[in-house]
Amino acid sequence: MPGGVSSPVRAFGAVGGSPRFIRRGEGAFVEDVDGRRYVDLVMSWGALPLGHAHPEVVEAVRRQAELGTSYGAPSEPELQLAETICRLVPSIERVRLVNSGTEAVMSALRLARSATGRRRLLKFAGAYHGHYDPMLAAGGSGLATLGLDSTVEETAVVPFNDLAAARSALAGGDVAAVIVEPVAANMGVVPPAPGFLRGLRAACDETGTLLVFDEVITGFRLDLGGAQAVFGVRPDLTVLGKIIGGGLPVGAYGGRADLMAMIAPEGPVYQAGTLSGNPIACAAGLATLAVLEREQPYAGLEAAAERLQEACAGAPVTINRAGSLLTLFCTADGVTDYDSARRSDLEAFARLHGAMLAAGVYLPPSQFEGWFLSTAHDDEALGLIEIALAQNLERIIAAR
Ligand code: PMP
Repeated sequence: MPGGVSSPVRAFGAVGGSPRFIRRGEGAFVEDVDGRRYVDLVMSWGALPLGHAHPEVVEAVRRQAELGTSYGAPSEPELQLAETICRLVPSIERVRLVNSGTEAVMSALRLARSATGRRRLLKFAGAYHGHYDPMLAAGGSGLATLGLDSTVEETAVVPFNDLAAARSALAGGDVAAVIVEPVAANMGVVPPAPGFLRGLRAACDETGTLLVFDEVITGFRLDLGGAQAVFGVRPDLTVLGKIIGGGLPVGAYGGRADLMAMIAPEGPVYQAGTLSGNPIACAAGLATLAVLEREQPYAGLEAAAERLQEACAGAPVTINRAGSLLTLFCTADGVTDYDSARRSDLEAFARLHGAMLAAGVYLPPSQFEGWFLSTAHDDEALGLIEIALAQNLERIIAAR
């Protein structure tokens, strides 16, 4: 296996040491194959807002598995998941289920290109939208961690939070779609500046460009209606993943009914999948969304993130937070875009990562990622993180 991993973000190259091989997850904790237990702040990169092995999710998976793992024909779980997504996310009138965030992005952008008859795309530096070729330019997440970048002719890239730059990239009227993480979470967490998302909406309307929100991370994490409900901006298309599969492989794209009517078999834009709408993934996602809807845990999740933010108060670091999403940057200078994120002291982050691991806290092994909390991060789990931060933060940052 290249790098010993199935996805580059799991490797420890940026922080040193060996990746932990996990054999078990339970609530806020993971246990590695050597029997060490960690408070987990990766949480399958945001797919598990209820923590590992939530009983209702496990039961839904077990019940569906007994009925068969995949049919290659329509089934009720996918219908119910589609209905739930359309009911909860304001702009999604119709939806298609796929198997990953990457696939959802690729399909949504194909649709945007067909609908507009334009080829060019606009993305923001440091944003990650999966590994579809046009989205590899100035990509965040693993691309940022590994320092990989590629110029893609048909993709314009401007800084996140720079509305004037976005406006001028759209001025030629030849861009099919602007794709944006409404809260950037793959250069570390960077909230949108006031008016940025609304300004993008207006610029798209003025130039006939489609606005695509990549809510793979923010969907059902910031709010049941996603970031679009929090910020009150209605995209033309939305991309989802992670939480809607409850930890099983899934993705979705949806939005305006007139656009979604262009997807095959209703329309000419082809997109298909052997395992799309997989009944087990949909059952796990439905169980997750049902608990989120019943318990409305968002205020509690945000309070947990605030506790961690406060635990860092006084250290010369930048904590960016939006709802329960947060990142500690090893710089005191503030982070508003990819350039400022890259001014973080990556060696200090690597030392902090190692010290936190030794203290029993599993942070994402890169500066350019969000920290993910769940409803399972109770007083005990948060207390362990607070103690580890108190023991290590000042010492490591002061040694810079
Ligand atoms: N978009 C965003 C915002 C993401 O964070 C990710 C993955 N972290 C993706 C797209 C790609 O999703 P996947 O890894 O499921 O292909």
